[in-house]
Formats: sequence, structure tokens, C-alpha cells
Amino acid sequence: MTEILNFYGGEFHPADSGAWLDNYDPSCGKVYSKIARSGASDADKAVKAAEKAFPEWSSLPASERFRHMKNLADGIRNNLETYARAESKDNGKPVSLARSVDIPRAVSNFEFYAAGAMHYASSAHYTEGLGINYTLRRPIGVAGCISPWNLPLYLFSWKIAPALAAGNTVVAKPSEITPMTAFMLAKTAREVGFPPGVLNIIHGLGPEVGEPICVHPGVGAVSFTGGTATGKRIITQAGTMFKKLSLELGGKNPNIIFADCDFDKMLSTTLRSSFANQGQICLCGSRILVEKSLYAEFRDAFTAKVSKMKVGDPADEHTRTGAVVSESHMEKILSYIEIAKSEGGKVLCGGERVRLGGDLSEGYYIAPTVIEGLEQECRTNQEEIFGPVVTLDTFETEAEAVAKANATPYGLAATLWTSDLNRAHRAAEAVKAGIVWVNCWLERDLRTPFGGVKQSGVGREGGFDAMDFFTEPKNVCVSYLR
Ligand code: NAD
Repeated sequence: MTEILNFYGGEFHPADSGAWLDNYDPSCGKVYSKIARSGASDADKAVKAAEKAFPEWSSLPASERFRHMKNLADGIRNNLETYARAESKDNGKPVSLARSVDIPRAVSNFEFYAAGAMHYASSAHYTEGLGINYTLRRPIGVAGCISPWNLPLYLFSWKIAPALAAGNTVVAKPSEITPMTAFMLAKTAREVGFPPGVLNIIHGLGPEVGEPICVHPGVGAVSFTGGTATGKRIITQAGTMFKKLSLELGGKNPNIIFADCDFDKMLSTTLRSSFANQGQICLCGSRILVEKSLYAEFRDAFTAKVSKMKVGDPADEHTRTGAVVSESHMEKILSYIEIAKSEGGKVLCGGERVRLGGDLSEGYYIAPTVIEGLEQECRTNQEEIFGPVVTLDTFETEAEAVAKANATPYGLAATLWTSDLNRAHRAAEAVKAGIVWVNCWLERDLRTPFGGVKQSGVGREGGFDAMDFFTEPKNVCVSYLR
């Protein structure tokens, strides 16, 4: 059985405790590998390795950091199929999705920020009657990067890459639920000769090793993606130590459909924005708000298509809906479907666990589920379910649509469907979210700011925003005018 080891100082190590966690294959519910169950002492060793590597890495010419990061990107690309299969097995997502989205995006993240290292610049201001102000941007030191299980390598690399590009060294922890591709990344780093100690990867449970990374005095900045409750915990622990924090948290995103939209494009995209990755993307639109005059037509067409979505073996090339990530997550999703029913919701399709045959009979499969008849104030519409479950609701005016869209504690993303240009811009401005898609979904230009408002997070990733986060600005004021 594969042993998923820690990687620090350029070498692989088991946890100091000698303990292991089980790693499950969600497609069949069986343990298939073991994860080093690390603690504070392992975190400390990784931080020390990162501190040791920092002076050299941070003083390398940007062109050299570019070269190392490009080598890492190429190392993943050259093994794309192996990575994609591993991601699918570890997470339960269809292999076709891992091959077309997750792994290519991880390659792009390293390439984008490799180039970013060479393009990053700071500002200068001419000050009348005085001289100039210029801003130095220097790396912070050791950055802690903590990521979730839904897009494992994709989100892991989205943090690590800008941290490295900006000249920091990194101690990173993937989710204990999906650690495999992070372990493979460590192997690739070794194979391509990535400098020892610059990228360190530690495995284990959040409270046992994630938190020691966040509160370690040697870690100057923490970039975290995960649940809002965990984000709060990190604020109360690391925030009080005045570390820089970037928090990408949960969401309950609205998908607002006006009657004048391009119906076919909206319908096919809404199927994806509802159920891609089994609805386990923080950007999925789980609350579908439809203009009343279009509602019956939309509901019938949407439900007919969702009922035909086939849940299948993630390793099968033809599967588009695979397993959810874990047994406990499956139970959580199913419990929310029961809550929805008790709140008066009507399940239009799905609503239950799916049992596949043979070896996959214990896998964690849920039929894509559509529910109508719920108020926005109920738990089903207020709390993040993070699975293949969407609710349908109606609105009559633009103002009502916006009010319903904004009626949760979250504010990550929103999608708008309309052919009215003025309304699109107006509603995009009025919706309280960090990201708004108009007549599309999940289109990502890596230069744009990414993040949420309200309880969906603090700070922005993407483009130079991430490099700004991983650097400390210092203004130098020079007087030279008489
Ligand atoms: P989680 O918060 O349970 O775990 C995320 C990571 O934090 C894991 O690596 C975990 O081990 C670690 N962790 C847990 N407790 C910790 C602690 N006390 N200190 C430090 N680290 C700790 O989240 P999850 O269940 O893995 O992921 C699902 C959540 O992530 C959802 O809420 C989803 O919306 C969110 N998410 C947000 C975005 C975004 O960009 N905003 C993207 C993807 C996922």
C-alpha cells in the first residue's frame, strides 16, 4: 500500500509519531493508501527547512525562479495522465474532468506564476516639491499554504505558485482527504531538481498539523482555502499573531436567470454550474433563481436533463458524474436533503444515494438533486451543502432577484443570464459577490482577482493580487528637490 510521506528539506519522511491515517477511494469506499499523520514537530522541521532555504531562493534572479517553476510545470505536464488518474481515484471525480481541468490548470498555475516572477514590478510616485516615493516589495519569508479536497492539485498549486514566484519558501498542507497528487508533486519536485527546502509538503489532519503550521512563529503569511468555520478558527489563532492572512472560504452562490436569456446556452451551462465535480466546486450555483414567466419552462427542461444524468465509475471515460469525496460528506449531503424535505421542499429529481454494482457497491454516489418550494431564509438555502443539490426559486423583478441573491451570509460568486446589457451591468454591480459571471460560468482569466466578500473570505488570489499578498510593501521616500 502506498505510503504518503512528508517532504521537507528535499527528502521524504514519515511522521515523527510513526502514525498513519487511512486514505479512501471514494469510488468503492475502500482504503487504498496510508497518510503520514503529522503533528507540530513535523511542521516545525518543515518550517526550519523552509527558513534555511529562504535566503538563497529569495535572492535568486527572477529568471532563475522562472526556470525552476517552469521545470515543475513541465514535470506535471509530462505525467499528466498519471496525475489525472490519481486525482480521480483520490477524489472520486471523473477522470475526464481531472484530465481536462484539474491537472492542466495546475500546470497553468505554475507556468502563469513562473512568468509572473519576471513581470512583477512595484510602483514609484513623483511628489511635487519633494522628490520620489518608491515601493519595495520583498517576500515575506516562509508562507503557509493550506488547501481543501475539492480541487486538490488545482487549488494547492494556485497558492504555492505565487508564493514561490514572489520569492518565499513554502510549507504546504493538502487536505487529508485528498493528499495523493500533493505527494506526487513532491516527487516531481525532486525529479526536476527543485532546490531542497523551497517547497515543503506536510500531511495530516487540520487541527493536528494544519494549525501548528498556521501558528508557527516562523510562518509570516498564511493562505488558506476551505470552510468558513475553519477560516474563523485560523483568524482567532494566526490572526492574533498579526500574520498576513488570505482566506478563501465557503459560498452559497446564486444563479440568476432572466426570461430574456439565451435559453439553450443557459440550460447547458446551468447543468454544469449546478453539478460539475458533483457540485463540489465553491463556485457552483446552488441557488437557482428564475424569472417567474420562464419558471415552468425552465424547471421542466432542467429536471428532464438532470434526471438523465448518469452517475458512474469515475475511472470510466464516459462518466460525467462520479462519487462525492467521502462517506461523511455523503452523509452530510443526504442529511441536507432530509432537512430540505422537512422545510417543505419538493424533490423534483434525485434525492438519494445511488448504489452502483460489483466492486463499487460501497462507493459514495448521490443522484443529482433538484428541489423546489423553499423560502430563501430556510437552512437549505442559507447553509453550504457542497454537493449535487440545487434549489429552484422564482422572482418577478430585478430588485427581487438581487435581494434574494444577496440574502445569505456568503458572497463568493454569482451567475447572471440575460440579453439586456444594461440590466447585466446593473445587477452585476448590485450583487454582493467577489466574482460575477454574465452569460457564462467558471471562465477564468488567471490575471483577474479571485475571492469572496462577507463570510466567503478575506483577500484576493489571482494575478498580481496574489503576489502582492505574498510580499510586504515598504515605501521609501527620497527628498532631492531644493
Ligand atoms: P476544511 O476547512 O475542512 O479543510 C480545509 C483545509 O484546512 C484542510 O487541509 C484541513 O486539513 C485544514 N484544516 C482544518 N482545520 C484546520 C485548522 N484548525 N488549522 C489549519 N488548517 C486546518 O474544508 P474542506 O472540507 O476541505 O473544503 C470544503 C470547503 O472549502 C467548502 O466550504 C468550500 O466552499 C471551500 N472552498 C472554498 C474555495 C474558495 O475559493 N473560496 C475553493 C474551494 C473550496
